[in-house]
Amino acid sequence: MKMLSFKDFVADFGKITKHRMNMSMYDDNFQCACGGEHWFQYHGIQIIGDGFYKVMVACPKSNHVTSVKIKTRLGFGFRGFESLAGAAVVGQEDERLLAATRAAAQLS
Ligand SMILES: [Zn+2]
Repeated sequence: MKMLSFKDFVADFGKITKHRMNMSMYDDNFQCACGGEHWFQYHGIQIIGDGFYKVMVACPKSNHVTSVKIKTRLGFGFRGFESLAGAAVVGQEDERLLAATRAAAQLS
């Protein structure tokens, strides 16, 4: 997983849309930008928004965000999560960008 500034992380994620993906069949742990691993369903991970076969998730324990790819075989059959990039949300500018990102996802 590449660690980026939050600004670069948001740019790297690309277009974000409202979370609509059904995650119920994707039950596994993922590598978080905080350095730990979290179990997706168990921790009730907060999803900020969707990308193309990936989600932007908030760490349940810290100020980190991670973009997590959903690995499938030809779009079917879950093969686990792969963390693509991570960042820490630090300071007012990042907080504002996070709020804007959440708003952009909700409006999509
Ligand atoms: Zn974490």
